Order: sequence, then structure tokens, then C-alpha cells
Amino acid sequence: MNPTVSHLQTQAVREAQGWRAAGLRYFSYNYFLRQLYGRRIHKVSVDAGFTCPNVDGTVTTGGCVFCDNRSFSPSRRLPRNGIGGQIAEQIKRIKFRYKVDDFIAYFQPATNTYAPVAKLRRLYEEALAQPKIVGMAIGTRPDSVPPDVLDLISELAERHYVSLEYGMQSMHDRSLVWMNRGHDHASFLDAVERSRGRGFEICAHVILGTPGETHDDMLATAREIARLNIDAVKLHNLYAVKGTPLADQVEAGQVTLMERDEYVRTVVDILEILPPTMVVERVSGESPPNYHLGPAWCLDKPGLKAALEAEFERRDTYQGRCYSAV
Ligand code: SF4
Repeated sequence: MNPTVSHLQTQAVREAQGWRAAGLRYFSYNYFLRQLYGRRIHKVSVDAGFTCPNVDGTVTTGGCVFCDNRSFSPSRRLPRNGIGGQIAEQIKRIKFRYKVDDFIAYFQPATNTYAPVAKLRRLYEEALAQPKIVGMAIGTRPDSVPPDVLDLISELAERHYVSLEYGMQSMHDRSLVWMNRGHDHASFLDAVERSRGRGFEICAHVILGTPGETHDDMLATAREIARLNIDAVKLHNLYAVKGTPLADQVEAGQVTLMERDEYVRTVVDILEILPPTMVVERVSGESPPNYHLGPAWCLDKPGLKAALEAEFERRDTYQGRCYSAV
């Protein structure tokens, strides 16, 4: 079996809050993984050929407004390489660049719990059995985790580090409707409650800058995440990928994307509210440059990182400074 860590160890790392003594402004994922495993860990993306109930008509069609789901039609979902092949290919490519030798398999595109449980078991176990894989992350929707799927993930988490990543996006149902998510906030709450205490990590994806959301609306979502006290969060701004419904709306001038200064201020406001024990897996997002319509600043990750650091510095603040447990 590959070396792994238990859920108790992940809790211990979170509760130690060592990131503050390490001089960080927030509990970054890199820091978390380094504490957990004692060395650097990198994610490798796995495309297992899933589609999405928000695309195939089970929930709705068309997918989320921002999602580049043109390749998600079931007839076209043939992964380019087997799971072992995809993992080996990426490890070969990034191992020396990042000087890293252990990896988390990240089931990333589409809805990665959207299949019968026997098929999911085969795919997940294949990923976990690859040399150099020390854990697994699974991206999914809150309405796609029936009890037998959660039972499977919980069972695998007895032997491996496993993180289940839910697309929450916002706590405001009107924003979820605008995104064409096909689920409401109650669905996310239900998924979190059914996932809690089952031995795997719970992570929420959140999008900032949805049209119609005020600064206070975004902070309300942050307070909701803080209240739920889940294990981890991923933040990014709303950005447009060419060929998506969102790109059409941006090009038609119907949607204005967030400027970097506003995004930076909002991220720092949000991190101040989140508990100091919550891992911040990411604070930015972007698509490959040739697919990316905007905003352009997302592609300048070092620039965004420097702007965030400057804002933390200017306020002399840090994650959890305004957190109050409820
Ligand atoms: S739920 Fe995920 S995969 Fe499905 S359409 Fe939305 S963003 Fe795309």
C-alpha cells in the first residue's frame, strides 16, 4: 500500500495551526500537505471520462454558465489514456520541475461521483494503487452523492487521504440559478451533513464576483462556510472561458468581471472570517491562456499573489482574525 495519512492526522495538523508560527498569512494547502506528509506533495489531474447530470439532461442541460463542457457529451467521453497512464504521464512531466515525488490523484473534470458505485470503486482503487499516489481528491456536485457513494468514499478514507470537493459556489440561490447550477444551497447543506464525520475531508469551491452579488453577499457566503466549519475551501473569481455562455454574455457587455483590486480586498475580507483551522486550497483560478477570455489579470498568478500579500501586509491581518465560532 502507498504511504498515507489518517483523518486523525489531518485534524491534528489543522488544530496545531502551525501556519501562523511559520509566518504565513493563511493556512495554505502547500503548507498543510507538507505538515501532513513531511514533504512536498503535488496533485495530478485524472480524467475518468465522467459526464455531468447538469449537462446530460438528468438535472438540466447546457451546464453551468461558466463551464466549458463541450466535451462532456456521454458519447464523446472517452478518456485519452487509462488512469494509470494519465498519472504516469503527468508525474513524468512535473516530477523534476517541482522536485516532488509523491502525488494526490485529482478526479477533476465533470462530476466524478456520477456513475454506479461498482464503477467508481474500480476507478478510485486504480488511481490509489498507482506508485507515488498518496491520496485522492474527488470533484463533484452536492446533488450527486447518494448514500452508497459516500459509503465507498468513507471506506477508502479508512486507508487513504481522501478529499471530497463540492461545488458550493455561493450560498445565494439566486446566484446558483444565474449560474444554471441545477441545485440550490439546501442541496449543499444536505451533502455536507451527510459527509461529515465519515473520515474524508470536505472541501467547498466558491466563486466570487457573480453578477448581482454585493460585497456583503460574498461575505455572507464566507460566514456560512465558517459556520459549517468544513475542512477546506477553494476560492476563485468568476472568469470566462471562450465558447461558454458566460463568454457570450461578457462579450455582449451583459456581464462585467471583477477587477483584481476588488477581488484581492474581498479574498482578504473572507479569509479574515474563516476559521484558522480551515485549509485554503486555492485563492485563484484560470483557464489555459488560449481558452481564457478574461479577466486578463487571472493569468498573472505571481502578480495576484503579490497583490494578496501586499493587502495582508497593509492591514497586518491574517486568516481567522475576525472568526467567531457560532
Ligand atoms: S456541475 Fe461542474 S461539470 Fe457540471 S456543468 Fe457545472 S461546472 Fe460543469
